[in-house]
Amino acid sequence: MNPANKIWINGKIASFKKSGLFCFNQALNYGASIYEGIRFYNTDSGPAIFRLEGHLKRFFYSASALRMKLGFNKIDLEHAIKSLIRANRLSSGYIRPLSFYSELKMGINILNSKVSTIILVWPWRETKQPKTVRIKVVKYKRLNPNSIDMKAKISGYYVNGLLGFIEAREGGFDEPLFLDHNNFIAEGAVNNIFLVKNKILYTPRAENILAGITRDTILRVSEDLGFKNVEKDIRLEFLKDVDEVFLTGTGIELEMVKEIGDFFYNKNNQWPVTDRILKYYQDIVHGRINKYKNWLTYL
Ligand code: PMP
Repeated sequence: MNPANKIWINGKIASFKKSGLFCFNQALNYGASIYEGIRFYNTDSGPAIFRLEGHLKRFFYSASALRMKLGFNKIDLEHAIKSLIRANRLSSGYIRPLSFYSELKMGINILNSKVSTIILVWPWRETKQPKTVRIKVVKYKRLNPNSIDMKAKISGYYVNGLLGFIEAREGGFDEPLFLDHNNFIAEGAVNNIFLVKNKILYTPRAENILAGITRDTILRVSEDLGFKNVEKDIRLEFLKDVDEVFLTGTGIELEMVKEIGDFFYNKNNQWPVTDRILKYYQDIVHGRINKYKNWLTYL
């Protein structure tokens, strides 16, 4: 199937060849693309990428979920990322690898379609003052794990997150919180959630969410600071009893939650546990904690 010569674009008839090449593909039309979000930090021993191996593993997993033939392996991608950072002369920032079905082709048969990959990097200012956010529990439910491959980061899924985000913003909040299909607390649009109560960190089970790499980092290191972890199904009502709530994600690291609708309100504006974990996390990503140095890939 080939497009006709002319397309209509932003109010004008134009030639397909000149203006339409970017839109006649399965990525744009059906969300058939995958991506990663990775950070690199300026450490005492130079720039280093945090948990690159985990991110590459997830990227290749996402590609396999959509049967993408990338044409390169993890080592190639690692080299590409490093050389791109060097070419941009950046010492800290954010990395966005993105693979998408780019062939001039329509219809949903993506099997054997051509894939393109791009990598973007941009500087990311390190958080000095942690952000606090107000959250709305939105009416949209997290995608049912029986309907999608939860472990893959597929662009099309993010429409669910975007709808929740619109609802939260239009309701006067910063971020959405999604419940899962059983009405247990799930996650944010692009981040995971932790609740703190009596030195215990509670977080939803991995099955019904995209269990992020930052979430995994927190679960693996929190015992060093004397905290216990519990992964379980959590009802909204449980929020009424907790001391602190924070969100996690590669970009935001840890973000303090001030309020979750009628269910949680941090009156005294203090997050002592979140603060301690955030400081420790920042020490880890900057290579200041020896036992976690193997999470860093130096340029
Ligand atoms: N949930 C969703 C839906 C996400 O898109 C992300 C961002 N990748 C996260 C959670 C947090 O994951 P990570 O800690 O790996 O950035």
